[in-house]
Amino acid sequence: MQELTHYIDGAHVNGTSGRFSDVFNPATGEVQAKCPLASKEEMEHAVAVAAAAQPAWEKVNPQRRARVMMKFVDLLNRDMDKLAEALSREHGKTFPDAKGDVQRGLEVVEYCIGAPQLLKGEFTDSAGPGIDMYSMRQALGVTAGITPFNFPAMIPMWMFAPAIACGNAFILKPSERDPSVPLMLAELLEEAGLPKGIIQVVNGDKEAVDAILYNDTIQSVGFVGSTPIAEYIYGTGCAQGKRVQCFGGAKNHMIIMPDADLDQAADALIGAGYGAAGERCMAISVAVPVGKETADRLIEKLIPRVETLKVGPYTAGDDVDYGPVVTAAAKANIERLVQTGVDQGADLVVDGRNFSLQGYEDGFFVGPSLFDNVTTDMDIYKQEIFGPVLSTVRAETYEEALSYAMDHEYGNGTAIYTRDGDTARDFANRINIGMIGINVPIPVPLAYHTFGGWKKSAFGDLNQHGPDAFKFYTRTKTITSRWPSGIREGGEFNFKPMD
Ligand code: NAD
Repeated sequence: MQELTHYIDGAHVNGTSGRFSDVFNPATGEVQAKCPLASKEEMEHAVAVAAAAQPAWEKVNPQRRARVMMKFVDLLNRDMDKLAEALSREHGKTFPDAKGDVQRGLEVVEYCIGAPQLLKGEFTDSAGPGIDMYSMRQALGVTAGITPFNFPAMIPMWMFAPAIACGNAFILKPSERDPSVPLMLAELLEEAGLPKGIIQVVNGDKEAVDAILYNDTIQSVGFVGSTPIAEYIYGTGCAQGKRVQCFGGAKNHMIIMPDADLDQAADALIGAGYGAAGERCMAISVAVPVGKETADRLIEKLIPRVETLKVGPYTAGDDVDYGPVVTAAAKANIERLVQTGVDQGADLVVDGRNFSLQGYEDGFFVGPSLFDNVTTDMDIYKQEIFGPVLSTVRAETYEEALSYAMDHEYGNGTAIYTRDGDTARDFANRINIGMIGINVPIPVPLAYHTFGGWKKSAFGDLNQHGPDAFKFYTRTKTITSRWPSGIREGGEFNFKPMD
């Protein structure tokens, strides 16, 4: 049984709390490693190491910091297969999907190579007589991030790459369900030339998270995970005077208009609903066809596609559409929710429960489920299932379809399938959701734009990656400067505009 470590001060260190959690291979159901759960004292030690290392790193010029990012990109590409294999083994997602996880993080690292440009301040010459005004962006100091299990490479990189490029030290508290890839990333960063103590991985659970939230040295906390925990971290972190951004759960609707290409829409729903076993915050979990004929034809096209989905272990290569879910508890919860859908009157047109795969009977596999005639009062509509389950809510009109997406408490992503430009434009303008796809099912913005939902899907005012990340991980300082030769008056008592 492998015992995983923390990564502190440039070295793998064993946990000393005596507490561990199991890391499974979701395809076989076996415990493959033990993850140490840090105590408050272990977190405090890591923060002290970071605080000692950070001032020197902040003084390294931004171009040199960017070179570490350049080298890190090379190393990520060099080790892509190794990282993806470790990721699939702990998470369960397919090998190509695991590479995508690393790739979408790597693209944010590439963006951070632009740090010298992105960190430039502003300057106004002669804002007043002999007066210049300028602003600069300075690092925060020690920053921290708490990440979910579903993107163990991408989301840590979305946080630590901009944080470090800005001159901060970063403490990562990854998901205890798949901590190996974050540990590998920290090693690669140091191979790329990052000084010791600037990236540290401290594994753990609520105790480690609380040790971050109540630590006075830590200046900012980034969180991605479920909404109840996002609300807890946002409330607690803000009350401690920290800068906090938290991204939560989702229930993403896709509206299918009568004029849409229904084959295209059905294919999009299959990929977006069932890819990664539905364990994506940008998964489409609700299909909203407009009009009875659209709904009937869509369901007819979806059924054979859902029934022929290939579910299996990542080791089966390209022959698999999606893998197991992350834990036995996740599987049980998904199957419980499917039963509530049946009990509350939805039509379960494809039942993915009781799925078994020969040779992998103990794996956490869940077959694909498809519901029709779901209504907004049902638990399967209100809650995030985070599994391979697609619910169809029928709408008679576009306005009714729009109102479903708008009235839902989550607001991460949404999509519309239509050939009509007016409808698409109206949808993009009126919807109260952060990321919109027009004939694109999973509209995850690229690295140089920003990622973030609205409503209960995000707390805080700045998004992840893109220019927002460089704002989140720096403070603005504004200087008004006049040299003695420019001073011509005596005391000035009134607050007045500059001449
Ligand atoms: P989670 O909320 O269970 O865990 C996220 C992190 O919080 C982990 O590091 C975990 O150790 C920690 N944590 C768990 N319980 C805690 C507690 N009581 N106190 C303090 N910390 C705690 O989420 P998950 O199951 O790992 O990830 C799935 C969730 O993440 C889904 O809801 C999904 O929609 C969401 N997600 C959102 C986005 C986004 O950008 N909005 C992206 C990916 C995932």
